[in-house]
Amino acid sequence: MTIDPRSAANIATLRKDAQTKAREWLVKCLEAGINVKIITGTRTWQEQAALNAKGRTTAGPKVTNAPAGYSWHNFGVAWDFVVFDAKGQPQWESPLMEKCGRIAESLDLEWGGHWTGFQDTPHIQLKTGCTLAQARRRVKDGK
Ligand SMILES: [Zn+2]
Repeated sequence: MTIDPRSAANIATLRKDAQTKAREWLVKCLEAGINVKIITGTRTWQEQAALNAKGRTTAGPKVTNAPAGYSWHNFGVAWDFVVFDAKGQPQWESPLMEKCGRIAESLDLEWGGHWTGFQDTPHIQLKTGCTLAQARRRVKDGK
């Protein structure tokens, strides 16, 4: 199974252990015949801050509620995916999105589609065993 260049580039932004898991997950989805790509990997804190400013202090619609350090994408352990149809159009509402999520869960990953409250269907992350607040503190402490 070959991983498409877009997914490969996003996987490369992840932490090493997350890279391994992301590749494993993607190959399983591809083997199941699903045309899926990883469309977001890690965002630096600076990138997150710029994204968060959209619709607040800079032009455009709001695209996130997370300031820098408030998204698992800022810690190298999360990625977003979307399923594509034969014409190359993203299919955000496809039932295959859930199938990909379930494949992630079968690999002991956390899928955003099963979050209570805000559901984030395209989101997958490592089970970190800590909160974002703890993760932020570790960064602050230089760990
Ligand atoms: Zn995400």
